[in-house]
Amino acid sequence: MTILSELANSLSQGAVQVVDLTHTLDPDFPVIILPPEFGQCARFRMEEISAYDHRGPAWKWNNISMCEHTGTHFDAPSHWISGRDVRNGAVDEIDPAMLVGPVVVIDCSEGAAQNDDFELTPEIILAWEEEHGRIPADSWVLMRTDWSKRSGDAYLNMKEDGPHSPGPTPDAIRLLVEDRDIRGFGTETVGTDAGQGAHYTPPYPAHFTLHGAGKYGLQCLRNLDHLPPTGAMLIAPPLKIRNGTGSPLRVLALVQG
Ligand code: MN
Repeated sequence: MTILSELANSLSQGAVQVVDLTHTLDPDFPVIILPPEFGQCARFRMEEISAYDHRGPAWKWNNISMCEHTGTHFDAPSHWISGRDVRNGAVDEIDPAMLVGPVVVIDCSEGAAQNDDFELTPEIILAWEEEHGRIPADSWVLMRTDWSKRSGDAYLNMKEDGPHSPGPTPDAIRLLVEDRDIRGFGTETVGTDAGQGAHYTPPYPAHFTLHGAGKYGLQCLRNLDHLPPTGAMLIAPPLKIRNGTGSPLRVLALVQG
């Protein structure tokens, strides 16, 4: 039996399951809000072209529009100034082999339940590795916070001083990128950085460090509580937008039961 025929059998018998890590795109799903002096990300919009009616008697279809960074979405290196000169840094240029790969999950849900500004630190990563082994090079690393179970205003969690949501410290993301050489980093929140990530040095350290090193980001993920800490396979191909800095996408994980 070949590896792929074994996988096909495992999928049909349910020994390998497909977990959907994607939120549904709809106009109500929150998008990041920047300070008012900056340009803003557009929410998802859908306009009906026809629905089996005089505009098209036998067919239904819609026009859609949104920001590249709306809903569950992929960040390419060219999204950030640190990655502007990275080779193959736009979504259409990424090697397709990078869009399927191993994933590990660091569970920060208890901490995030206590503290909206919960930080993923090097200490947490090293403690995780004590239990599960060293994070393999070229893996996706996902930060589970259960933040995806929030909705409405609680998702962005805007206060007078801006949004409050969990994320990695500069040292944590440097450890993952520079020492572990991960492929990318994903979160359940609206960005790979903490809501208050502007106050770190550098500001927005996950964006700065990941994309400067040619690594990728995933945001607005869900169902991370259905993934094991190690051993799952992530399928995350963004749309092939010419010079695109990111894109909404369907993120799937293959999980061995
Ligand atoms: Mn983004």
